[in-house]
Amino acid sequence: MTSITFDVALAHDPVDRDFVALDALSSASGQSADERAAEREGWALLEATGDLALQTEAAGRIRRATESSAHLLDYPREYLLRVSVLDIVAAEERQRLAWLLQRCAQDGTVRRDRFRFVCGIRSSRWIDLRITRRVNDDRADEHAELLLTGHDVTDWVENERQLVELSYQDPLTGAGNRAYMRKRIAEFSARGTPGQLFALALMDLDGFKKVNDSLGHEFGDALLKEIGKRLQDALRSRNMVARLGGDEFVLMLEGLDSESEAIRILERVIHVCRQPFHLGGCQVRITTSIGLAFAGTTPLTETPLTESQWLRRADLAMYEAKALGKNRYCLYSPEYEHRLDEQFRIEQSMFEAVQNGEFLLHYQPIVWPETGEVCATEALMRWEHPQGAIAPDVFIPMAENNGLIKHLGAWALRCACAQLASWDAQGIHVQHMSVNVSPVQFRHPGFLDSVRNAIHDAGIVPDRVVLEITESALMTDPAATESLLTELRALGIRFAVDDFGTGYSSLSYLRRFPLSALKIDRSFVSDMMDSPHARTIVSAVMSLSRELGLVAIAEGVESDAQAHLLSAQGCTLVQGWRYAHALPPGEFERALRAGTLRLGHTDVFSQGQA
Ligand code: C2E
Ligand code: CA
Ligand code: CA
Repeated sequence: MTSITFDVALAHDPVDRDFVALDALSSASGQSADERAAEREGWALLEATGDLALQTEAAGRIRRATESSAHLLDYPREYLLRVSVLDIVAAEERQRLAWLLQRCAQDGTVRRDRFRFVCGIRSSRWIDLRITRRVNDDRADEHAELLLTGHDVTDWVENERQLVELSYQDPLTGAGNRAYMRKRIAEFSARGTPGQLFALALMDLDGFKKVNDSLGHEFGDALLKEIGKRLQDALRSRNMVARLGGDEFVLMLEGLDSESEAIRILERVIHVCRQPFHLGGCQVRITTSIGLAFAGTTPLTETPLTESQWLRRADLAMYEAKALGKNRYCLYSPEYEHRLDEQFRIEQSMFEAVQNGEFLLHYQPIVWPETGEVCATEALMRWEHPQGAIAPDVFIPMAENNGLIKHLGAWALRCACAQLASWDAQGIHVQHMSVNVSPVQFRHPGFLDSVRNAIHDAGIVPDRVVLEITESALMTDPAATESLLTELRALGIRFAVDDFGTGYSSLSYLRRFPLSALKIDRSFVSDMMDSPHARTIVSAVMSLSRELGLVAIAEGVESDAQAHLLSAQGCTLVQGWRYAHALPPGEFERALRAGTLRLGHTDVFSQGQA
């Protein structure tokens, strides 16, 4: 007893202090002084490593702990000596550790595993633990004493976690990437909780290409970044968003109680995406189209969808949302599969249609608003498919995708120029012919020649031809655009900016490019009567045109009221059903003969500087 008191007095070091207590116990348990000294030395060594070192009972109660363990785990050593090691590992690790302790106590085999220890309330440390049965201790089972030593690998685990996260992360937006989506789908398929729904929504930004083309890729990237952020905010978790590339995002909605819950989320997403973006001093508005697919209503009977099945369903639904006018969501329905086949058939038949002469041009008069006299016509392509007409809004994008637009566009140019010459020959002098040019066609290296040849072969004066090009096509590569336009303008060709107001023109380019006209998009004209906002835009385009010496042409004029308002605002020319639809050449001629249409004689372009 006295010797214990003496030792305690000497023991500054906690290990010593421990051993003093232990000596008392060990001598009682029959350990020799030599053994005790060796053990004390070993324990001091453990202390010196700075690693974790605990001696526990088989059930986990801590009998001895180094000061460095206390330091590492951020608990007072006295606390450690009062608890079980199971109390200081993370809850989810407890069972595994308890089992390993027991196994080791039973058979004495060394066990190694990684555990997360909880330190205080929030922090935790990962420790690679080695569990051994105490040397010279052949008391098996619950009486065995175990030595738990361990190295702190928290930094390593954290690095590893970050690496894994990075490999699942889209570097631009911080959302997940395709690999991440794949992982989430696999996890859901493996889990498939009955009664719970999983939905995958594929979203695509309407008109993103336009932003990218007109404002440049940096702004495009900034927009994507902001969209990523808004999505993560709207879903209140970044774990649900992944970007597949380009402007395609995937939302993974898990644990839904009903379909309407998913729909509420999508409505929120559509709303947040519609709010204006501020990019480099410009205010940009964009909308999004979303396709939604569900699974999980009967997960036990339904075979889980593969990643590509999920994407295909969501993609079909998204396609439908776009077809219905964009800025909306659409739910997958099996009938979309048939529609896709239909699309495919149409696209295939397009090649034949070119050979069979199923494509035609109709001509829509562009008139002076005061007199209604025809100043020009716009050539609009028609496809008379044997099973019914197919609208240009359907087949033009297809032709742009499959490359046929180069042929169709070149054909339209030749055909329109030849029509002008043919009317001339019949004494019908239409002053100008407007021809639409697709961005794909415009950027094609053979474009200049195709224009030159069409005009030359028809034998018409080039300054009667107006090429209609959209803002985004003009803005894609401004330097190349400028030189191409300048070269064509030198021949006499004129240019009109089509659908003006829907793209993102830089006003300085409007001045720099040799343009002759702005065609105000018909959406503004149709909104003009009800929306002061649209009215303001129309009147701003009028003054802009005047300032820049451009002819302002309003598209889609359907009513007298629109016509009057446009006229009052100083619109130069108008086009729309109020005056005439796009007509086949024969009908156009008949209308002139019947006097329902009259030709004007003033050359609109010679009036101004255009
Ligand atoms: P766009 O160039 O904006 O052509 C005007 C569209 O508005 C035409 O549709 C025309 O029929 C329609 N429209 C004219 N007046 C009115 C009106 O009062 N109300 C309404 N609601 N619509 C009116 P369409 O013919 O269906 O052509 C659609 C688009 O397809 C065209 O839009 C153009 O972008 C493209 N397109 C047509 N023909 C060609 C072509 O030969 N080449 C190229 N690249 N694109 C073409
Ligand atoms: Ca047009
Ligand atoms: Ca247009």
